[in-house]
Amino acid sequence: MTDQLDQAQAFEELRRADALRDQALKPAMPALGFCYNCDEVVFEGCFCDTDCRDDYEKRERQLCSSR
Ligand SMILES: [Zn+2]
Repeated sequence: MTDQLDQAQAFEELRRADALRDQALKPAMPALGFCYNCDEVVFEGCFCDTDCRDDYEKRERQLCSSR
């Protein structure tokens, strides 16, 4: 029984570490209700799909490296 509990706890800690790392990688972006990339209306998050997120991140990276 304790093994199962330990596993659940370890999994939970991994998940939390993942979420924290994600937050550290991405600066906080407020959800505006619009896709940051194409201005499409989105009800959750900052992008309408992963393509838009990738596009946006690619552009951000180019901006950063050109500075
Ligand atoms: Zn979009």
